[in-house]
Amino acid sequence: MVRKRCGRCHNISYSLSARGRWVCPECGEDLTDAPLERPDRSTANIVPVRPPALEPHDLN
Ligand SMILES: [Zn+2]
Repeated sequence: MVRKRCGRCHNISYSLSARGRWVCPECGEDLTDAPLERPDRSTANIVPVRPPALEPHDLN
């Protein structure tokens, strides 16, 4: 299960696979080339490899 966040309406949509065409069900934005959202449940302290360009998170 993967998910993406729409850059236009910020709706999170889910899919079984990141392959294929992906369109936001809310506004119809084409999310095919949008980056995948990482599933972050209550694992805030377990941070996988993040791209350095992301804004720093306050790990309090
Ligand atoms: Zn949207």
